[in-house]
Amino acid sequence: MTDTIAFNRLADLLGSMGERTRYTGGVLRTRGLCHGGDSPDTVAIKRIANGVGVYCHKCQGNADFLAAIGWTAADLFDEPLAERPRDHPENDIWIPCQERGHRRVAQYLYQDENRLTIHGVTRCNHKCFAQWRPDSDAKSGRRWSLNDKQGNRLVRTVPYRLPELLAAKLADRVIWIAEGEKDVHALVDHGLVATCNAAGAGRWTAEHAQFLEGADVTVVADRDEPGQKHAVQVVDSLRGVARSVYVVQARTGKDAADHFGAGHRDADFDQVWAPVPHPGDAAVVAQ
Ligand SMILES: [Zn+2]
Ligand SMILES: [Zn+2]
Repeated sequence: MTDTIAFNRLADLLGSMGERTRYTGGVLRTRGLCHGGDSPDTVAIKRIANGVGVYCHKCQGNADFLAAIGWTAADLFDEPLAERPRDHPENDIWIPCQERGHRRVAQYLYQDENRLTIHGVTRCNHKCFAQWRPDSDAKSGRRWSLNDKQGNRLVRTVPYRLPELLAAKLADRVIWIAEGEKDVHALVDHGLVATCNAAGAGRWTAEHAQFLEGADVTVVADRDEPGQKHAVQVVDSLRGVARSVYVVQARTGKDAADHFGAGHRDADFDQVWAPVPHPGDAAVVAQ
């Protein structure tokens, strides 16, 4: 991998040419290759904004020196980050099922506390989900697996939108947990703070739960069997962790996206489980 910093590239090049350099007073000095190589230290090389400055005191310029080392004026600039796709792997729209004619329609980034991407999830127009992790050694900047060859997970497990979740916890806001990213975005679009785990129902773990310590949580359970099982799993993981947990379901349709799609508001979700019996609960009616 070539260095993005022009100064480093030039120092490396001189080193590989066997040229002696001397670093003094913030300036790298070398001999005048431009004018036959006499006068040690006659060429000054200094890191400047966006690149490297080169000046031969004898030639009173750098054109001949650059020609002598095979550089052009363009080589004097640091490589802008935007020109390195591998630094922004999330911008690459290639997905593994593209060979089958599918195309990416959504991408969700799982980020850490400092908004660094831990891994990404892509969804195509045929609902294939794929996950990748950043890898600067890969040409595209990412690898389509979160595990090593032995199946060991290589990346942290965090809930979706962790930075927003942590900020909401500090502000004492209710945190909604949905089954997938699409529902999370439906909730967020309606002004709520929401999260989920990657890869869908059945994959919520104690690792996710720990980020909700002390939080007030509302779980939106999908109206199907995997959805209900998933909600139970989430609730169990939050016992003794979260401050309060409620479980609701869409008034119309299967999930949060359907609920809002039908024109309902967040207050319209059907409450199906709460830590204290509510009017209408079977336990209350039986008394
Ligand atoms: Zn010179
Ligand atoms: Zn696909």
